[in-house]
Amino acid sequence: MSEIVTKTVICPKCRQQTNTDIRISANTREEPNIRKMIMDETIFRWKCPKCGFSTRFQHPFLYNDIENKFMVYYIPQVERQKVVDIKLEEQFSELKDIKKRIVPDINTLKEKIVIFEQGLDDMALELTKLAVSEIVSKDTGHNVYSGYFTEIDEEKNTVSFQFFVGGDKRSYIQSTRLDIYRRSMGIVKKHFPKVDQQLGFLNIGRQWAKESLDNYKKSRK
Ligand SMILES: [Zn+2]
Repeated sequence: MSEIVTKTVICPKCRQQTNTDIRISANTREEPNIRKMIMDETIFRWKCPKCGFSTRFQHPFLYNDIENKFMVYYIPQVERQKVVDIKLEEQFSELKDIKKRIVPDINTLKEKIVIFEQGLDDMALELTKLAVSEIVSKDTGHNVYSGYFTEIDEEKNTVSFQFFVGGDKRSYIQSTRLDIYRRSMGIVKKHFPKVDQQLGFLNIGRQWAKESLDNYKKSRK
């Protein structure tokens, strides 16, 4: 179920108008190499057929991994916390317990793929990431611009994130004990148990983590 639409694109360099095929959805079963095309971002490259100018071309894309039961819908700069697409969900109505996410950027699209392929819980990871990012902010004296899950090391008992810090977005790797992730899992299981049976694609990022943690703290008072 790979979907392609044709759009008119004007080359930013030579101003030539061309019709370009844009792939707006794909599943990993029919197109196993789609994952690689996301990870190296070739799916978001556009090349002018006239002058050869090449640039990043950001367009919506729905990534569907049937084996690992998740869908990630990349909508550039999306700010909404939830997107319900009835037509789309009717196509998958026979499938239960699918994790559905919307993401605002390509790095988060990649991050969600890595998380769900490993069977990890992105909500618990976001809560953990928020806690770790506050430590990074304190340690460096700079704001954390963004952060992404990198790995879990069972032997070392750690979970690691890569943060981009300060105005120059310097890369900063920070690990924490795996217990923090496990504790976050406990919070998620207790307070957000049925999230993935809802209709709609959810934006599970920093804003979600902040709001959820606030609600959780209030509920304990
Ligand atoms: Zn051109």
